[in-house]
Amino acid sequence: MKRMLLQKKILVVEDNMLNREMLCEILSSTYEVLEAENGQEALDILEKHWEGISLILLDIVMPVMDGYAFLSRTRSDPDYSTIPIIVTTQSDTEADEVAALSHGATDFVTKPYKPQIILHRVASIIHLRETSAMIQRVQYDRLTGLYSEEFFYHSANDIVRKNPQQEYDLLCSDIENFKLVNDIYGIAAGDRLLCKVAEVYREIAGEWGICGHLNADKFVCLIERHHLEYTDAFFSRINEQIRSLTNMKNLVMNWGLYQVGDRSLLVEQMFDRALMAARSIWGQYGRYFMLFDDEMHDRLAREQAITDVMETALDEEQFEIYLQPQYDVKRDHLSGAEVLIRWNHPEWGFQSPGVFIPLFEKNGFITKLDQFVWSRACGVLREWGDRGYPDIPLSVNVSRADIYNINLPDILMDMIQRYGVPPEKLHLELTESAYTESPDQIIENVGKLRRLGFLFEMDDFGSGYSSLNMLNNLPIDVLKLDKEFIRNETAKAVTPGILYFVIQMAHSMDLHVVGEGVETKEQLERLSQIDCDYAQGYYFAKPMSCTDFNTFVKDTKKG
Ligand code: C2E
Ligand code: CA
Ligand code: CA
Repeated sequence: MKRMLLQKKILVVEDNMLNREMLCEILSSTYEVLEAENGQEALDILEKHWEGISLILLDIVMPVMDGYAFLSRTRSDPDYSTIPIIVTTQSDTEADEVAALSHGATDFVTKPYKPQIILHRVASIIHLRETSAMIQRVQYDRLTGLYSEEFFYHSANDIVRKNPQQEYDLLCSDIENFKLVNDIYGIAAGDRLLCKVAEVYREIAGEWGICGHLNADKFVCLIERHHLEYTDAFFSRINEQIRSLTNMKNLVMNWGLYQVGDRSLLVEQMFDRALMAARSIWGQYGRYFMLFDDEMHDRLAREQAITDVMETALDEEQFEIYLQPQYDVKRDHLSGAEVLIRWNHPEWGFQSPGVFIPLFEKNGFITKLDQFVWSRACGVLREWGDRGYPDIPLSVNVSRADIYNINLPDILMDMIQRYGVPPEKLHLELTESAYTESPDQIIENVGKLRRLGFLFEMDDFGSGYSSLNMLNNLPIDVLKLDKEFIRNETAKAVTPGILYFVIQMAHSMDLHVVGEGVETKEQLERLSQIDCDYAQGYYFAKPMSCTDFNTFVKDTKKG
């Protein structure tokens, strides 16, 4: 029974009973065969079963409705036209063959039937049709009916390459917080929104362009230049239109445009540029459109230049760790230090971590650099241990990418064992947003490391969205208050203020609190009043080289 269901169906249309039976016999070993005596009967069968029919064998000369009439009817019907038809005829003159093919037949066999030839032809035509149907399916995105990512890029690259004289623009868009749209309104509403966006794209492209749905909320359109005027007003109208169609009042869609200039770029790279433009206006109220401009181009070029030299820079020891002291607020003594990376390039000079760290996080180099920093930090701890002072822990930064690495516990254990450093001397700082993005995975990995004896600090607390009651469930030992958070809160006259509550809450959970970016005496006094445990910032000292730090420690000891 199961086999029957899987058997492909073939419709044989033939008025001569003998011929029909012969065909049935040949085919029925492999296929399920339906029979019709003329074109009209065949149309009746098609009406009911067309979806299941893989191929039609059609005689030409028949009463009621002949083969040509049947061909004309089926080839103009969108449902039936994709079913391949093999015409069977008595004669093998070229004129008959041409007539059949020109009416839309797929192929042609002559009587008397040769079973092996018929079976092979039928099989290969069915196979061909199935493959091309599969290609059709991946050619179009199922949800929106626009081109799929792969097909869009393929076609767009082809168009750009084959029309060197024609000028093109690449337009793309990105929805702010699309994930939230799905969370709040549900997947179905999210899908409806995407279909509306696809309609807008079809309108924009008209007959001058092609468009694709790449993934999630990413759409793209390659369009001949000068058919559209890209103005803020135009895109703000489109956004308005999508909002009212979907009833999502706060929806923000950002549009980015790359004007195709450098044809050596792949359309994929052009898309990155258009998207970079779109992303650059994220969160800017009332702005929905941005052109990829020279400044962005320079930034990309700079990033590329950094990427080109980063490996060499690490090999040639252009990176160096700096230490910034932390103080016990109540007892006023040195309690630890944060390890911060510094890059001194022989030609470019000093490079700010604010520039290269986000890039290394993007291109993955951060994992390598972080390991370099940790091992240098272990080296310093070893040296201090041998000397007997300062007896303080070091805090190193751990990137998101590190924490997803399942080998991280092994890497860190190897390192501290190699240097003979106890794990509690190496504090690991992980930024707040990493905790909030994928808490489950983080909790697991961080939990493992804590069981090995490492201490965790949540960095930049107050800069993201983690709620206080979430802290309860997170595996952390120290809360590090973000410098902006401290700056803003200590500037307010209100007492006790939110900082006070945060610190109380942290203490009730047995967490220590470090205030970061303390720049003034007033800030320190305020933190001290509200029981903050430790502080770090320019008020005490800027980050300094290890040599300077050692001198600094000696001097403070004396002082
Ligand atoms: P962060 O982890 O929040 O580090 C604190 C940053 O604040 C440091 O900037 C530090 O120099 C600066 N800072 C310290 N005290 C003050 C102050 O009183 N006022 C002000 N305005 N700033 C202060 P830096 O060294 O430029 O590092 C920037 C960021 O780069 C770090 O932020 C961290 O996210 C990242 N980073 C630095 N080194 C590493 C590293 O080795 N690995 C990783 N993954 N990231 C690192
Ligand atoms: Ca940090
Ligand atoms: Ca921080």
